[in-house]
Amino acid sequence: MNIPPPTPAGSQKLAWVDAHNHLQDPRLAPHLPGVLARARATGVEILHVAATAEADWPAVRALADANPGLVICSFGLHPWFIQNRSSRWLENLRGVVSSRPAGIGEIGLDGRMGDGLDADRTAVFRAQLELSYELVLPASLHCRDAWEPMLKLLADLPPHPAGILIHAYSGPADALGWLAQKNVQVSFGGTLTRPKNARARENATRVAAGRFLLESDAPDLPPTLPEDMPPHLAGPDGKPLSEPAYVPYVGQLLAQLRGAAPADVAAQTTATARRLFAKLLV
Ligand SMILES: [Zn+2]
Repeated sequence: MNIPPPTPAGSQKLAWVDAHNHLQDPRLAPHLPGVLARARATGVEILHVAATAEADWPAVRALADANPGLVICSFGLHPWFIQNRSSRWLENLRGVVSSRPAGIGEIGLDGRMGDGLDADRTAVFRAQLELSYELVLPASLHCRDAWEPMLKLLADLPPHPAGILIHAYSGPADALGWLAQKNVQVSFGGTLTRPKNARARENATRVAAGRFLLESDAPDLPPTLPEDMPPHLAGPDGKPLSEPAYVPYVGQLLAQLRGAAPADVAAQTTATARRLFAKLLV
């Protein structure tokens, strides 16, 4: 655990926000002190941890409780994990988001599951999204291979009163304008660093200032790192892990793509995150 923090030139004095990660993931448990220290060292001042299933809600809560002012959190059922929900899951969700400052997430749609549960998945997603409207709490969304139903659903709803974040946005660039009208933000992470990811790069250049955030999605979707940066953490299976300290690196790349100064991207994304997560930051 002596990996020094990634320090892209010039990023040290800027303040950043990791708008979406899963620090409760067991793959990160042995590395957590270093992960938090490196986040702080690289200027990442707020870490938004999203739950995925009732089973990880206590761990998410514990992370936020143990790191006030640094870790904020959301609770929800991720579309990959709906099959293990309890019969009282929606009441439990209402209870947990009423018991401390929190958002609703990670929730969403995934068209690649192939398990025959898509109707169920849609119902669970809708119920959680509706709860976020009712309680005026920000919602963090996952969407993979389900852009048509997702965009139709959002188009039919009024603008969200607290705001929505679609994380790791890979939807059409043409939707970004009207999504902003619905108070939907998008975030970009490690996949932006992959040279072949033309869609993410196009979206990163076309999204309006004030409507995008940065994320690590730790421990998943690690960025491709330049040779002068230390190697990724490795999971138990040896695969590379993402961590919040990569957010400034992704932010610098995004600034380059937009022809903007990294300081402007840091300031804009931090302001957007503080607005979206205002209720979580109390
Ligand atoms: Zn996620």
